[in-house]
Parts: sequence; structure tokens; C-alpha cells
Amino acid sequence: MKILVINSGSSSIKYELFNVHTHDEYTVLAKGVADRIGISGAYIQHKKNDEEEAIIDMDLPNHTTAIDAIHKLLVDHQHGVIENISEVEGVGHRVVHGGEDFTGSVLVGKQVIEAIKKNSELAPLHNPPNLLGIEATSKTLPSVPQVAVFDTAIHQTMPPKAYLYGLSIEQYKKYAIRRYGFHGTSHGYVSKKAAETVGKSLKELKIITCHLGNGGSITAFLDGKSVDTSMGFTPLEGIIMGTRCGDLDPFIPIYIMETQDMTHEEVNILMNKKGGLLALTGKRDMRDVLQEAKQGSIDAINGIEMYVYRIQKYIGAYAAAMNGVDVIVFTAGIGENSFYIREKILKNFSYLGLILDTEANNNNEIIISTEDSSIYAMAIKTNEELVIATETFDIISKKS
Ligand code: AMP
Repeated sequence: MKILVINSGSSSIKYELFNVHTHDEYTVLAKGVADRIGISGAYIQHKKNDEEEAIIDMDLPNHTTAIDAIHKLLVDHQHGVIENISEVEGVGHRVVHGGEDFTGSVLVGKQVIEAIKKNSELAPLHNPPNLLGIEATSKTLPSVPQVAVFDTAIHQTMPPKAYLYGLSIEQYKKYAIRRYGFHGTSHGYVSKKAAETVGKSLKELKIITCHLGNGGSITAFLDGKSVDTSMGFTPLEGIIMGTRCGDLDPFIPIYIMETQDMTHEEVNILMNKKGGLLALTGKRDMRDVLQEAKQGSIDAINGIEMYVYRIQKYIGAYAAAMNGVDVIVFTAGIGENSFYIREKILKNFSYLGLILDTEANNNNEIIISTEDSSIYAMAIKTNEELVIATETFDIISKKS
């Protein structure tokens, strides 16, 4: 079944065309990104099978023209991989915020669209462009079923003690202020892979998954369910990220606004876009921060120390919350690739009996703990697009 995965942002649309036979048997036919939508200098970066990437400049005034251009590329005589766009049997969309309305992926219909719109209040930067992708697809492929896959859905299993804040219950009931959590497709995917690697069912294991990319979050899985996660009401809470500050004393933004004559938008930018590694080291990209640290930058060295320390605290907290941990998993850009950061983080878990296999860690192998280690440590490549493709495949297969 040919499934097109769409991740629609405000000025870009990432896409990936899969041919899915089963969850384990699939091929990627093409993938790419339509960028600078609605801005001058728009283009599509397209990669067909194992061929070189092509950059195709074109006018992309809005999301509908971009989706249409992607469809045309997929059937193009030079860049295409299918004969006719009607071969696409389903389109899976990444949707960031499902609020409390969605505990799993769903077929898109009128009610689903209304609920995504309602939840736009909670994710004003993400849900509206996600919806644009759905609406554009409805215009260009009106008879093809679409599935919405939510970043928040997997975390709906958290108990109230994990998702409520120490505020009046009215703030939750009337204003929906609670922990939602994000990166759900990634945490779900790597936790399943970890269980497969151990050869046990997910339900039997206590797993802590660390998604360490430009954004980052940590999730605790108990009985096969997400029971806590570091991102909260928004993706700002939790560990230090590329440009997000992570956990703060909640009075700090109020204090800054009062004493430094800043507007709430300026404070928002300070915390979300100019915070984190960028604020601490001048660089948002961990590779650059590591490079600066190698050259002796004290700011970079301290930034890395803080980054690692906060992650250690979350892992320790979740091990305590679950009364133990069997597997610690690292994923996303930093988690999958930086053996240096993983080693620094894991140094403090010898008290749990964790023994790092330095060679396996340096080689970015899947299992990076030794055979006699009491708990596993793993580095697992995430694949959020594949999760969206297989969820779409499952829902469409059940429907027909
Ligand atoms: P992501 O958001 O998952 O694409 O991850 C992006 C982050 O991963 C950036 O901070 C990159 O610098 C970081 N990253 C990617 N490769 C490496 C690497 N080999 N070592 C350290 N960090 C890396």
C-alpha cells in the first residue's frame, strides 16, 4: 500500500512516500521537503530512492500549490517513482497537538478537523500549518483517506499525578492547563524497538526514552504506557534544548517582564527561540557546541555540563518514579550520534548497576551496555515518518 507521509509546517512541507507491506516490510520510494512556501526563493528538495538529491526551484505561494507540486514530482518522468498519483492509497499527517481529544491516530473527518482546530489554541505555531497540509490534500486528493497522527496521543496514558500542575483544578478543567508531552511518535517507536531488542514485551519493562534532538524530551514507560514525560503544557518545559531554556523557576518570566520592561512576546522569544544551548554557548547545534568545547570555550564546556546534568536528573527522577528502570534509550540527532554525550550522561548510573560498553557506545551500536550490566543502555535510530506511515496503513487496512 503506497502511503504518503506529510509533515506540514508554517513555511515548509516534509514528505515521504512509502510502500508498506507490513510494519517490518516496507520501502521508501521518495522523500523531500518543499521549503520557503509563501516566501520568495521557494524550492523542493527531492530524493528518489537511492538517487542523488535534486533541488527544484519553483513558485510555491501556498500549501495547496506545494502539495500539488509534490504530487506532480512523484509522477514526473524524471523525478517520479509512481505512474499515477491515484496509486497513493492513504496520506498520513503529523499533527502536533491532539489535546485530550485523541489517544491514538484517527481517520480525518469533519469532527477530527474541528478538534484539531480547537486544539490550535494550545499549539498556535504547529496545529494551523498541520491543518493546512490536511486541507491542501483534501483539495488535491479528495477521495484518498487521510490519517492524523498526534505527537501528544501516546502521553494521554499519564496518570493525573504526572499531568496536573500545582495550580487550582479550575486551571485544568476550564483552561485545559496540564502536561501534554510531545515527541510521542518517537518515544513510542524507540520504546517498542528497545523491547524487541531485549526480547520481552513492552509491558514487562521499565523504559526511559531520551529523545535528544534540537528539541528534546524524556519519557518514562511503565506497563507499556507513557507515565511521565519532561515536556509539559508546551514543548518549553523539561531539559535544555537547542534554543529552548527548559525548566525554570516559573516566577522568572514574570520578574523579567516587570524589571526589564519586556513584553510577553519578547520573553517568549527569550525562552523559546533564544534560550537553551544558544543562550549558554552562542551555538544551538550540539555539533558546534562540542567543537567549541574542544577548542577550549568555557561557555561551551559549561553548556554541555548543564545539558548533561539536567538529563541525568530526569533519568534519576523517572527511575525513582517507576521504582527502577530496565532500559535507558537514546534517540534523535544527539542521542543517536553523540557517544560523548551518552557516556557523560550514563556515568552517573553506576548506582543502578549500569556498565557502559565503551567500544559499542563509540561505534553507535544499538546495545551500548555490557553483558553483565544490570540494566540496558541503547542508542536507537528514531523514525517518526515510518510510525506515521504504519499507523496510516493500519487504519486504512481496517477501514477497507
Ligand atoms: P534532530 O533535531 O533530531 O535532527 O537533532 C539535531 C541535533 O543533533 C543538533 O543539535 C545536532 O548538532 C545534533 N547532532 C547530529 N549529529 C551529531 C553528532 N554526530 N554529534 C553530536 N550531535 C549531533
